[in-house]
Amino acid sequence: MTSVMQRSDAADRALRARAASVIPNGMYGHQSARMLPPEFPQFMVRGEGGRVWDADGNEYVDFMCSYGPIVLGHHHPKVDAAAAAQDQLGDCQNGPSPVMVELSELFVDTVGHADWTMMAKNGTDATTMCVTIARAATGKRKVLVARGAYHGAAPWCTPVKTGVTAEDRAHLVYFEWNDTESVRAAVEEHADDLAAIVVSPFKHDARVDQEMVDPVWARYLRQVCDDTGAARVLDDVRAGFRMAFGCSWDTIGVQPDLSAWGKAIANGHALGAVLGNDKFRDGASQVYVTGSFWFAAVPMAAAIATIHALRDEDALAAMERAGQRLRDGLAAQAASYGIGLRQTGPVTMPMVLFDDDPMFERANLWSGQAALRGAFLHPWHNWFTCAAHSDDDVDAALRATDGAFALVRARFGAD
Ligand code: PMP
Repeated sequence: MTSVMQRSDAADRALRARAASVIPNGMYGHQSARMLPPEFPQFMVRGEGGRVWDADGNEYVDFMCSYGPIVLGHHHPKVDAAAAAQDQLGDCQNGPSPVMVELSELFVDTVGHADWTMMAKNGTDATTMCVTIARAATGKRKVLVARGAYHGAAPWCTPVKTGVTAEDRAHLVYFEWNDTESVRAAVEEHADDLAAIVVSPFKHDARVDQEMVDPVWARYLRQVCDDTGAARVLDDVRAGFRMAFGCSWDTIGVQPDLSAWGKAIANGHALGAVLGNDKFRDGASQVYVTGSFWFAAVPMAAAIATIHALRDEDALAAMERAGQRLRDGLAAQAASYGIGLRQTGPVTMPMVLFDDDPMFERANLWSGQAALRGAFLHPWHNWFTCAAHSDDDVDAALRATDGAFALVRARFGAD
């Protein structure tokens, strides 16, 4: 790994200059480095295991894992082999490949509530399909969501309302996470028109401490849906396969009717999925949802290999081990510098925030300096561990964060 002094960002700066004239804002969406401290690169060139390299050849321990999709590590050999073999046969064809049936069977065998599956490309496709299926099945319109939760970038759910009409979101109703009374109030107001309640497995909103779900509240949501016929939708796009080998709420024994998947299911290949139970099979069979690339076979072959490897290699245990080692190391470092640090969420998807940091000044300095020292750690979004993160990777990241903590301490003092 190059030292801070040896690092160059010339290639990244040249690419940014070219991008500025041919890509709006030079880049958009969650991967825009404009959302990150200035020390971060915009352009990435390759990844291997738990590490990635930017356009200047700088190496990072990768604790963003492409914002979730890389669950086994970059270039997992079995996933690569399965994808390459399928690519030899065909990818984007006139009809789905047999691997679509095989993958659907594997999902149904793996995820408790699932009786059927539908494939798409992105998590937003999957959450949007869940809402559409719920409305088709119930004939109702209202969709209840937790305030501040992210379910994708379509007009019905994007957090940024520019270019979106009020009508696009007319039937969204908000409640507060883990708050039974706010759900009760929303349900009472819309009891006759309730299509779905959509929640993520835990509160993983950006910029705030993460909150695990209260099982009593989760069971209450289940009960409301049983009583009203609305669909219980679990948005497992971000957390899927990082909390359980199955639906994330298997951990608390509460089953959804529909679940939305994306990110980790194909270890970086483009694939989203909706899984549903028999109650919603008829609704699912009525909606018209499709896309030119949705049925591409390579990502499905990659997903089959990913799901087998997740099970055969006990990937969740490896992710937890890396996450715990990182959490323990960061806690010890913060304590040694007298810096208040809050680490919330599952260890496989940690959110790390500084005390007394409302404008994220400490976080930005710290994660920018960690990036310069070879650790890719977001200042205000949850991170992701993958099964390829070795003790060496974690320890290399901790060497980077130690230097970053020292600079935070020098600039802001101890708490
Ligand atoms: N739901 C959740 C919980 C997510 O985290 C995301 C992506 N961050 C989405 C939906 C949308 O997924 P995609 O970006 O693949 O459309």
